[in-house]
Amino acid sequence: MPKSTAPRPVRRVCVFCGARDGARPVYLEFARALGALLVERGLGVVYGGASVGLMGALADEALARGGEVIGVLPQALVDREIAHAGLSELHVVDTMHARKAKMAELSDAFVAMPGGLGTFEELFEVITWQMLGIHQKPIGLLDVGGYYAPLRAALEHGAAEGFVDRAQLDALVIEHEPVTLIDRLTRAHAMRAKGRGLTLDET
Ligand code: AMP
Repeated sequence: MPKSTAPRPVRRVCVFCGARDGARPVYLEFARALGALLVERGLGVVYGGASVGLMGALADEALARGGEVIGVLPQALVDREIAHAGLSELHVVDTMHARKAKMAELSDAFVAMPGGLGTFEELFEVITWQMLGIHQKPIGLLDVGGYYAPLRAALEHGAAEGFVDRAQLDALVIEHEPVTLIDRLTRAHAMRAKGRGLTLDET
């Protein structure tokens, strides 16, 4: 992640999503729909570089429509998550930390789709880094089929109980449809951190 800079126009979107298909067809459908929409809007895709699950569906659709798709995968996962063979660029990095830093560096906004623990971890890292002023890139949650309702409730509970900053929650762009989410993200200027603007070098 580069040092904190002013928000820049959104040209590439980093998408966090499951390495599995999920239990309902709607998840794969929306991964394809998001891939198609990003290409239609002229936006590049940055993602985890796998060919499986929602990750693979998103990449396949964007590539099929002529989009730019950049994958970032740690060497240790090249076989396990089956590195996508047809990407515009594939960065093979040494560690999970290097993966997330590279994905963030290459993109101007973040979107989390349904996914598992890996997706949650990636989402919470970019939210907390935004909170600390490490980046000012907008973050969106694509709440497909109500998947994120329990997480949203947990975040609301955290705010009601005084542990989660309400302004931080309000900065998270949550939508059910890819079009409205991407429209809002491309307009959004991420919340400027209120506190001391840390840089990655200080973390
Ligand atoms: P999941 O949401 O669990 O299906 O995982 C989605 C992606 O997140 C996969 O490519 C995982 O390799 C990745 N992932 C899992 N844990 C981490 C982590 N700690 N840091 C970065 N990526 C992760």
